[in-house]
Amino acid sequence: MDCIFCRIIAGEIPAREVARSAHAVAFHDVNPQAPVHVLVVPVAHAATAADAMALEKGDQVIAEVMRLGVEVARELELEKGGYRFVINTGDEGGQTVHHLHLHVLGGRQMRWPPG
Ligand code: AMP
Repeated sequence: MDCIFCRIIAGEIPAREVARSAHAVAFHDVNPQAPVHVLVVPVAHAATAADAMALEKGDQVIAEVMRLGVEVARELELEKGGYRFVINTGDEGGQTVHHLHLHVLGGRQMRWPPG
């Protein structure tokens, strides 16, 4: 298995897990870009949201990633101040790990447009 997030999900690489559901896992980003920076990933390997949607029960997988992101934001008390969800996709999208992940960023003022 050469996917780093698959290895985290399998417990082969340590990560600071925040939450887990049947189809998704949330853990802290190792290189945080904000006071709170959590990644939510589907348990099933899929490189992109499009690939995840093509899985059996793909719509459920996508919904669960989003749901867990909302729960993490609530749990880590980001709701009042606000937060940002980001999904980088492909080279021009800035994706470096090719296993779908939702970034949950919060705890500081975000700017727009992103770089
Ligand atoms: P992206 O550039 O959108 O593909 O984001 C990949 C993210 O994965 C980056 O924010 C990295 O800091 C993060 N990352 C890479 N390796 C690990 C790891 N072992 N544990 C936690 N986060 C990681």
